[in-house]
Amino acid sequence: MPNGANTHCPYCALQCAMTLTPAAPSAQPGSDPAPAAKALPLLDVSGRDFPTNRGGLCRKGWTSASLLNHTGRVTEPMLKGSDGVHRPVTWDQALMLVTGAVKQTREQYGPDAVGVFGGGGLTNEKAYQLGKFARLALGTSRIDYNGRFCMSSAAAAGNRAFGVDRGLPFPVEDLDSANVIFLLGSNVAETMPPFVQHLQGARDSGGLIVADPRRSATAAFTGDGGGIHLQPTPGTDLALLLGISHVVVHEGLADAEYLEDRTTGYPAIVRSLSAFWPERVQSITGVPATLIRETARRLADGARRGGSYILTGRGVEQHVDGTDTATAAINLSLLLGLPGSSRSGYGTLTGQGNGQGGREHGQKADQLPGYRKITDPAARAHVAKVWGVDESLIPGPGLPAVELLKSLGQPDGVRCLFVHGANVAVSAPDAGAVIEGLRSLDFLVVCDFFMSETALEADLVLPVTQWAEEEGTLTNLEGRVLRRRKALTPPPGVRSELWLMARLAESLDAPSTFSDDPETVFEELRLASAGGLADYSGIDYAMLDRGEAAYWPYPTGSSGTPRLFLDGFAHADGRAVMVPVAPRTRSRRSAVVGSDPDPLTLVTGRLLEHYQSGAQTRRVAELAAAQPEALLQIHPAPAAVRDITDGDFVRVSNERGEVLCRVELSNSIRTDTVFLPFHFPGLGSANLLTEAVTDPISGMPEFKTSTVWVRKAALP
Ligand code: SF4
Repeated sequence: MPNGANTHCPYCALQCAMTLTPAAPSAQPGSDPAPAAKALPLLDVSGRDFPTNRGGLCRKGWTSASLLNHTGRVTEPMLKGSDGVHRPVTWDQALMLVTGAVKQTREQYGPDAVGVFGGGGLTNEKAYQLGKFARLALGTSRIDYNGRFCMSSAAAAGNRAFGVDRGLPFPVEDLDSANVIFLLGSNVAETMPPFVQHLQGARDSGGLIVADPRRSATAAFTGDGGGIHLQPTPGTDLALLLGISHVVVHEGLADAEYLEDRTTGYPAIVRSLSAFWPERVQSITGVPATLIRETARRLADGARRGGSYILTGRGVEQHVDGTDTATAAINLSLLLGLPGSSRSGYGTLTGQGNGQGGREHGQKADQLPGYRKITDPAARAHVAKVWGVDESLIPGPGLPAVELLKSLGQPDGVRCLFVHGANVAVSAPDAGAVIEGLRSLDFLVVCDFFMSETALEADLVLPVTQWAEEEGTLTNLEGRVLRRRKALTPPPGVRSELWLMARLAESLDAPSTFSDDPETVFEELRLASAGGLADYSGIDYAMLDRGEAAYWPYPTGSSGTPRLFLDGFAHADGRAVMVPVAPRTRSRRSAVVGSDPDPLTLVTGRLLEHYQSGAQTRRVAELAAAQPEALLQIHPAPAAVRDITDGDFVRVSNERGEVLCRVELSNSIRTDTVFLPFHFPGLGSANLLTEAVTDPISGMPEFKTSTVWVRKAALP
């Protein structure tokens, strides 16, 4: 690494470019005459110019190197004793234990009693290998991953409408010249701050429109530039989108020529919108009819002037009707003629670092590499040939993530579970039930670099390499494949997950070969993806190392696809499918807790300083110091009714559990809503309150609208 390793941030899907260089000697551990308790980073991080971040990083990226030699890192396999304490064992012992547990479980209960839970932060190579490992080495159908929690509804809607799902079907730089950007349910100013520069042009011309129940940092960015902040009641985004679409149709703002030439289903859409006139939608959503009309008119005006974009995030997707809500956003974009234009479009903002690649290579319960359906005979035959096995050896569809977690320890459920790159004890809905499920397993193996809350429940914790200790690739939110580079030798007791899968595949007599070399695995991934929707066959490490842009689909002999849909959509007839959708009545269990005043709606989300379950960022001193605990954001009016003042402790409860935390009074949130970040475990764990009810199409859980009661509490 003479001039430093050019790589990308270990966290979110913006995948900001950075360079890692050896830290100056004064910062090396041991050179300090009075060393601090925490090890100083071995590497310096600097931002690198790249289209997504243009040299910028957020504070998570700047501090990311401190994870590499963190004193809390797991550096040996750790086996839990009968006293509940984890103690080191050798790798040989660890591999023997895992092999024995898998064989015994399969013998006693069948192969589907073994399960695998993957992650959206794994490299493409690991995600690919994990799907193959589950199906061939373990012989199970039961593999899914945490992307089910964050991208599955948008993915399902994109596949239904366009025939393929790529988060942003255009380079992020296209947004720079937009006249109007309508952003729903995404607080990018906190989750991926460098992205905000791509909103600046629309914002400066008064064309930024943000829908969020909170006046988040991103909503506030609409500011005094003439933008619009729509503040709907949580869970009513679908009605809001139908109201805006109603105005587009009834004011003659739709692009008739585009609809005629490039879509199917328009007449049914017109009929489905008739009941959603602005005044009625105002009564459902709380958004003034004037703003609903103004939003529709601005979007149409922006499209006419050559640049309107609609972007969705988890706020509108993490619902039981998330697929239909994303579909309503797509329908609106189609009415306006945005998708498949070089200067307008629809996209969804992927969250996890490899949330895009993670859903393309086969770690989803219903998919094989190349974004192929596992039920498609041609797909099975193709992948079986690449793997060198008879296709009968590839199991059918497994269980989506929430169902897989509900099955833990149940009759006919999973008894032995592998967890890779996920912290379900904090990140999954109804986390209390998930923890009980983990405890009921016969054997739990967790691969991680820290003792996460899930690792603490494990029988065996296997220490694995981190982002800067290995080679690989990731696919960012634009569908652009990027190289992750090794900048540091991992601690001696740590192994890569590719190595682990290769060794276990041998000991389990898997009917295919498993390489532990990332580039070799990528070469196999290229073959497996060839001809699929997410075709990587024309991409190789050498071209990525030269800095060439590589957007999939990138078949051999092509030059990739920065902009999808310019010549047609991915359905056989080349047209986008408009699917009529309508809000469903939400069934909600409403056990009244105590004699409180009215319940409030809990919305969960993220903070600037933390990433996902916080397993990594809570261990970064600077980030933990800035945001050390979960704070419940509540408006002063409902707080006053409950005799709650700023900084008070409160008990937030419902039929699933309770959270004890402090409050932060804020005028930026609706009076019927409270907000709690989901990064924290224990007493402040937001997901103790969320319900494991899912969207029937995507399997995505309802994270954004939970009924809760808030009461003042004594100090815990
Ligand atoms: Fe990393 Fe995302 Fe922050 Fe960029 S915005 S530095 S990718 S966490």
